[in-house]
Amino acid sequence: MSLTRSHEDFAALIQNAREFIDNEAIPREDLRAAHDGAAMEQVTRLLRDMAVERGLTSPRRAVADGGLGLSWEECCTYLEVAGRSYLGPGALQCAAPGQPDIAALDQLASPAQRQRYLEPLIRGDLRSTFAMTEPTPGVGSDPRMLSTRATRSGDGWVLNGHKWFASAAGRADFAIVVARSDAGVTWFLVDTSNPGFQVVRDVPSMDPFDFGGHAEIKLVNCAVGPESLVGEEGKGLEYAQLRLEGARLFHCMRLVGLSSRAMDVAQDYVAQRESHGARLSEHQMVQAMVANAHIDLYASRLMTLDTARRLDRGESIRHESSMTKVFVSEAVNRVADSAVQMTGALGISEDVPLSMILRTLRPFRIYDGASEVHRAAIAKRAFRHRLHA
Ligand SMILES: Cc1cc2nc3c(=O)[nH]c(=O)nc-3n(C[C@H](O)[C@H](O)[C@H](O)COP(=O)(O)OP(=O)(O)OC[C@H]3O[C@@H](n4cnc5c(N)ncnc54)[C@H](O)[C@@H]3O)c2cc1C
Repeated sequence: MSLTRSHEDFAALIQNAREFIDNEAIPREDLRAAHDGAAMEQVTRLLRDMAVERGLTSPRRAVADGGLGLSWEECCTYLEVAGRSYLGPGALQCAAPGQPDIAALDQLASPAQRQRYLEPLIRGDLRSTFAMTEPTPGVGSDPRMLSTRATRSGDGWVLNGHKWFASAAGRADFAIVVARSDAGVTWFLVDTSNPGFQVVRDVPSMDPFDFGGHAEIKLVNCAVGPESLVGEEGKGLEYAQLRLEGARLFHCMRLVGLSSRAMDVAQDYVAQRESHGARLSEHQMVQAMVANAHIDLYASRLMTLDTARRLDRGESIRHESSMTKVFVSEAVNRVADSAVQMTGALGISEDVPLSMILRTLRPFRIYDGASEVHRAAIAKRAFRHRLHA
């Protein structure tokens, strides 16, 4: 925990955030506007301004820089509260891809890049996207397959390649583009207004909301200057790992919040509705679904918390973040699936947010490393380092 904040101050902050989510964010959710990008943008901006006024934004930024200065451990509680509403993370400045991009650039950006990109990104004046994944035959789960090329031209580079699933690219002002130069995998900051940065389409997906979509992008003779290089040439994979470890943990925190809200909705339903002479909550098979969900959420919170504490202590979390990501991504899906099951037809409808939550959670088993890829890495480390289970 942070040494500068008392337990009472932190409890008051969480209470403030909870009231904001319950009284301001959740009432403004409108599933009918989910695919209306302009409407989503408008409500997010409104809520963000309100959150700034209440001193609720940017949990990981230092207090001196206008943030809340929360430790990773404190973020577990804070982001779970934020994640209960799909409008919460954007409003409280802890949504992907902005949050992990900010975290990475905070460590890597040059003074000029800080001024031009990072500071406006933190203020919410600019938006970012992270473009690494490529369609076949390019990079997906295996980073060695990165095929976007960065070729030297004068003192800069020319980028050529094909990206897709760059989240929020539809609204981004700049992209972190991952490409292969002669020195290896390298990060570049590219303005989306660069004529060589061409958004082909927003890939239609099961994601219920339009927060800028998941874009397919072509980089066609995209010329960038020396000032676009992030950090050192050839260190892009190391940086991707750095960006992902925190991002994964943030996803776990937020999505535990979203799935616990699904279970709250389902529990309210089964406590009222009757079938075969008893309330649904009195049927043992329904009780088992509730109990399993609570067990899954408890274990998810503890794994996330333990990994967060390790990060606060400056330890490597490579192994733990993989295990946590696999467990939590699968557990929250079980919870949301049970919530839909318990709620019957109502759960499938858009009158309650359950199907939205299920569609939001399902991709988490794929992005930030698919479960199978993490399991392979966990087992490899266990054998290589003779780790005790
Ligand atoms: C909602 C969403 C948002 C995303 N946002 C971004 C973004 O902002 N920027 C970005 O660059 N990318 C983004 N991605 C892409 C994401 O990083 C990739 O989907 C992920 O890395 C997996 O790559 P792939 O989809 O190409 O799957 P593939 O590599 O084609 O793998 C397909 C499946 O094969 C199996 N598999 C793969 N490798 C192995 C293995 N070694 N052992 C066993 N099984 C294996 C897994 O089950 C895997 O799900 C996003 C994806 C989603 C779904």
